[in-house]
Amino acid sequence: MAHNGYRIVFLGPPGAGKGTQASLLSQKYGIKKISTGDILREAVRRGSELGKKAKKYMDAGELVPDDIIIGLIEEQIEGIDSFILDGFPRTIRQAEALDDLLAERGKPLTHVVFVSVPDEEIVRRLTARRICPNCGAVYNMVYSPPKRDELCDVCGTPLVQRSDDREDVIRNRLRVYAENTATLIDYYRGKGIFYEVNGLGRVEDVLSRIEEVLKVQRT
Ligand code: ADP
Ligand code: AMP
Repeated sequence: MAHNGYRIVFLGPPGAGKGTQASLLSQKYGIKKISTGDILREAVRRGSELGKKAKKYMDAGELVPDDIIIGLIEEQIEGIDSFILDGFPRTIRQAEALDDLLAERGKPLTHVVFVSVPDEEIVRRLTARRICPNCGAVYNMVYSPPKRDELCDVCGTPLVQRSDDREDVIRNRLRVYAENTATLIDYYRGKGIFYEVNGLGRVEDVLSRIEEVLKVQRT
């Protein structure tokens, strides 16, 4: 595969567009996207043990405990050479665990892409976000609405609002991000793999900026 060996982390506040950009890159270049949020939401939907443990944290906009998340990521990246991580790591402990895991294999991260978006824009984006509960596609009722009223363009399923996309929970998620996750910027800066990208503007323009820092050959 042409793009083997990309081990990318997407960092940024909730609503920055990490999932949107990770999906586009994943489709375009065939690199596996691993979104801890998507995996947890699917587990909650199925009512699995993982879902039962995670639900109360997610509903409150708090972080799911590190041990659960680190175990999940270990499973997901087992035997995989290239990946895009969306929503992980979110704490220093998670970042250290990831570094240790990759160091054992001699295959460290290649890029950490920090997508920066100011808080006011985040609240605007998240209150208008809708997702497909069936295939996970993400829409925005203001910026990128579905073609047919609140139905998924891909599979026709009625779209839903995430239970944590309520304004009070969004505020808490922003607080949790500022307290636990923003410090990862310093953790990765100085490792020579950190890139900041402006997340404002059209989705395709943000994608071009990301491709530029990844230096992925355009097709
Ligand atoms: P994250 O994964 O960082 O939480 P998402 O990718 O889910 O963020 O994007 C949050 C919301 O903002 C979604 O409704 C998405 O459609 C929308 N969005 C993503 N990128 C942009 C953009 N460049 N401009 C406007 N809205 C965007
Ligand atoms: P996201 O889809 O990335 O916005 O994540 C939704 C929710 O899932 C978060 O608010 C957390 O409760 C939980 N979550 C996702 N990823 C992680 C992680 N790396 N560490 C802890 N909790 C997480």
